[in-house]
Amino acid sequence: MYDINKIREDFPILSRKIYNRPLVYLDNGATTQKPRCVVEAMVDEYYNVNANVHRGVHFLSQQATDLHEASRETVRAFINARSTNEILFTRGTTESINLLAFSFGEAFIHEGDEIIVSTMEHHSNIVPWQMMCERKGAKLRVIPMFDNGELDMDAYKRLFSKTTRLVCCAHVSNVLGTVNPVKDIITIAHEHNVPVLIDGAQSTPHFKVDMQELDCDFFAFSGHKIYGPTGVGVLYGKEDWLDKLPPYQGGGEMIKNVSFEKTTYNELPYKFEAGTPDYVATHALAKALDYVSALGMDNIYAHEQELTRYAMERMSQIDGMRFIGTPSHKDAVISFLVGNIHHLDMGTLLDRLGIAVRTGHHCAEPLMRRLGIEGTVRASFGLYNTKEEVDALVAGIERVAKMF
Ligand code: PMP
Repeated sequence: MYDINKIREDFPILSRKIYNRPLVYLDNGATTQKPRCVVEAMVDEYYNVNANVHRGVHFLSQQATDLHEASRETVRAFINARSTNEILFTRGTTESINLLAFSFGEAFIHEGDEIIVSTMEHHSNIVPWQMMCERKGAKLRVIPMFDNGELDMDAYKRLFSKTTRLVCCAHVSNVLGTVNPVKDIITIAHEHNVPVLIDGAQSTPHFKVDMQELDCDFFAFSGHKIYGPTGVGVLYGKEDWLDKLPPYQGGGEMIKNVSFEKTTYNELPYKFEAGTPDYVATHALAKALDYVSALGMDNIYAHEQELTRYAMERMSQIDGMRFIGTPSHKDAVISFLVGNIHHLDMGTLLDRLGIAVRTGHHCAEPLMRRLGIEGTVRASFGLYNTKEEVDALVAGIERVAKMF
């Protein structure tokens, strides 16, 4: 049972008025709103449990540690990893990728080596690799894309050489909504003995992901995009790989013994978690994952797919509508432009109607260059959006278009 009215009641912000109109929140690709259970878990922990984790013998410290480590198990189960040793808590997708770029770069990248990324990557899956390439004298190779927003898989196969060391690819494009054929991308890379990082920032909130089924070597996602708090995210890595990588940051928690002569590092996953973690956020993230699991990821997927289909159908009837990204497998993200209306004008005027969409390059400037545009307007759906909100968006776009 997917009772949308009941679900919406879990998110207090959705009943806010913006400029005296009901909020229509369609910026879920940037961040999602939080259900009561997530916020209440944070308040409860700060009021009743708070103490630093892992270090204390006292009651509160042990209780906070138990909550933090139980959250790691919740994440493990949610993505079906083999072991909690494979779940590293980070600040988000961006930090997860920076961690990997640093550690993998230190261990495995030498001058002349190559890293494959795709045309549609978010800056956070480009720039850390560029920085690592600069440090190591390595090169980026880029998977090209067709005009409809699908990757050119034949070209991908031709990018491999003896010096390819890693493939990094988004599961779902935050601009085009393309669901990339990551299973094929991973299989092909493994045929060349090359490991793969999947950026799951835009997939985890929308459909079930399974590490053992995907068989990717690394996977990153953010808590705040899946109805959890800001400031926490995850890097999944196969244990064999994580064992071979050096730590990212040094400090407390990540050590076994320290002397001025030599320091030995802690075991997984702590080797990669220097300093006090945001243990309140990890606990709240687990509550968010419990929340979406109770609704059912398959139900969320079906609901959002139906919304996307309905929105595409209704929006395609608007004069001058141009969709950016029409792949055959598309997730709940719709980028568009209307006639010659600048994306910023469209976004600003929709905002006046209480409709929150995102405008601009969406942290994907190379993709914008490939498409020959400066930016788009982007509506992205979450589990609580409704067809009435799609209708409000369509009416809003039509109203703005009439003004031009
Ligand atoms: N990758 C993709 C595909 C994204 O959409 C985003 C966020 N827009 C990120 C990475 C970065 O996530 P965060 O800002 O939470 O680190």
